[in-house]
Amino acid sequence: MRIFSGIQPTGRKHLGNYIGAIRGYLAGQERGDPALYCIVDLHATTVAYDPGRLRSYVYDTLAMLMASGLDPDRSILFRQSDVHEHTELSWLLSSVTSHGDLNRMTQFKEKSAAQRELVSAGLFFYPVLMAADVLAYRAHEIPVGDDQRQHVELMRDIAQRFNAAYGDTLVVPEHRIPDVGARIMDLQDPLSKMSTTGSEERGLIFVDDEEKAILKKVKSAVTDSGSEVRRAPDKAGITNLIDILAVIRGSAQEDVEREFEGQGYGAFKGAVAEAVVDYLRPVRERYRELRGDEHALEAVLGAGADRARALASETLADVRQAMGVGPPA
Ligand code: ATP
Ligand code: MG
Repeated sequence: MRIFSGIQPTGRKHLGNYIGAIRGYLAGQERGDPALYCIVDLHATTVAYDPGRLRSYVYDTLAMLMASGLDPDRSILFRQSDVHEHTELSWLLSSVTSHGDLNRMTQFKEKSAAQRELVSAGLFFYPVLMAADVLAYRAHEIPVGDDQRQHVELMRDIAQRFNAAYGDTLVVPEHRIPDVGARIMDLQDPLSKMSTTGSEERGLIFVDDEEKAILKKVKSAVTDSGSEVRRAPDKAGITNLIDILAVIRGSAQEDVEREFEGQGYGAFKGAVAEAVVDYLRPVRERYRELRGDEHALEAVLGAGADRARALASETLADVRQAMGVGPPA
């Protein structure tokens, strides 16, 4: 069982990333043979970004993954741009990618609307590079949040179309999206997902946020004007906090609703805030230690890239052979 997932080094990562994706990476580390987790710096260049900070964001993200419990001896942790096979494969896969399908991608629509200066072709092409990330490893399973469902569907189509056109070469992967917590919402705008690049600071809980900041952000989370702690379509803010608490406690959403029956939002928000603080504390503490040593982090990335390249280059050789590209094998 090969497991693959990617995370963008676009700045400080948040509770949504942790609950929706990183929790799944940790579970994958137990089952993967191997589990590969990639810091996708090439994806981060598809929207406006600061080149002077990108490398440092890669270290931030790696330190955060390791602080969460990913162990470079058990999982393959690496930087996307170190393994050139990803970009070559993305071009080769473009021959079996439908332009119309790319046009339908919700993430492209949302992110392109948010760009002030340039909507890059890279933002449009993003799902093809993401397909290459996964298909290069012939991964079976992809732990991701709910917002990636459509991209995973697309890469399945790409793999199937490739196999039909050129012969059975690629593995058609499946997503692994958690039942609860797959879409953590922005605390200030509970109709939008919590997002590294799209949310304002007040709407995000960063994994390495100070205790005081977490308490303040949760307590000032936007809720409806009622007082009942229960999930409902017109109670997006409260529903989000119920999901967060249920995931942290490992209990059912119904149990959370029952526990806070008859109590106001104040008491409930206080409980959620405390739970989040306790949940993230060990990660924040380990993060500080790990982040300080950039040489050690670079060494992890280098070793991870060597292991990743060994797997990806086998797939690339088969893909080139099947497509008639390059000299005969
Ligand atoms: P951006 O919004 O700029 O794309 P991001 O917050 O989505 O950034 P990514 O690095 O793109 O961060 O996503 C990493 C992983 O986190 C993906 O698997 C994604 O599905 C998951 N994820 C992102 N946001 C959430 C969220 N709000 N709730 C649950 N999972 C999420
Ligand atoms: Mg994203």
